[in-house]
Amino acid sequence: MSSPDFARNSDNYCYRHPDRQSFVLCQRCLRTICPECQTQAAVGVICPECLGQQAKTQTPAQRKAERRWSRPRAVTATDSRPLVTYGIIAVTMLVYLTQLIPGSPVQELLAFNSLYVAPAWGFAPFQPWRLFTVLVVHGGFFHVGLNMLAVWMIGRSLEPLLGRWRFLVLYLLGGLGGSVGVALIAPGLWVVGASGAVFGLLGALLVIGRHIGANIRGILLILAINLVIGFVPGFQVAWQAHIGGLAVGALVGLIYARTRSVRRRALQIWLLVAVAVGLFALLLLPPLIYR
Ligand SMILES: [Zn+2]
Ligand SMILES: [Zn+2]
Repeated sequence: MSSPDFARNSDNYCYRHPDRQSFVLCQRCLRTICPECQTQAAVGVICPECLGQQAKTQTPAQRKAERRWSRPRAVTATDSRPLVTYGIIAVTMLVYLTQLIPGSPVQELLAFNSLYVAPAWGFAPFQPWRLFTVLVVHGGFFHVGLNMLAVWMIGRSLEPLLGRWRFLVLYLLGGLGGSVGVALIAPGLWVVGASGAVFGLLGALLVIGRHIGANIRGILLILAINLVIGFVPGFQVAWQAHIGGLAVGALVGLIYARTRSVRRRALQIWLLVAVAVGLFALLLLPPLIYR
């Protein structure tokens, strides 16, 4: 993505900091703004200029009400915390704790096996939620620990850059890509873990930019350790999920990078829907290929 026309396109950079790449637009003037320039508004975020104008056009009564009812500016202005990243980690760790309860059925209910998403096969009941719930069940402390470390390392720089919804959609589509990869390459294999989604984040990160300040070397090291422990008996870490997640993540990253301006917002949503529909459609293939 370092082609000259991409670099020249100012839509891709904060209008106040031309060297900072970003995907988030001010909800009022629709210009691109970096995490530092974002202030949380009622809907979305707004830029410092619009924040100033808003304050100027308020009547004294409105200003008084704002002082009384809203949180102090200092708090809202710094609210670019990666809340979706924290949420993913919290939910995953919570589910892992329930797996530790003796006799817990959580893993059996939530793990992924392609037999459960291909009714045409007739081997197992149709339980499509396993495509996504596989992301929250893990094979052991190191498995969940390393995956969540990777989510945190990538999410803290990628989420403020993309915005919360785009980050969450990327995570879920990467996870779906991982499950579809397993269904296509290794039908019948049981898998657990967030690795597909983690590789999806990595795929997007590799496409979107090496210059956003994420420690890619550190992330690759974590993923390498994760791959190695995949061969330790007792862990089920599927390389098929890594490939699927990586490919879908890179594709979603490309979509985000090419449809950043507000004129292309509808196109962005339709392309994401198309990716999801395409992935679901691929699930029809395994029963045809492996009879
Ligand atoms: Zn603005
Ligand atoms: Zn900025």
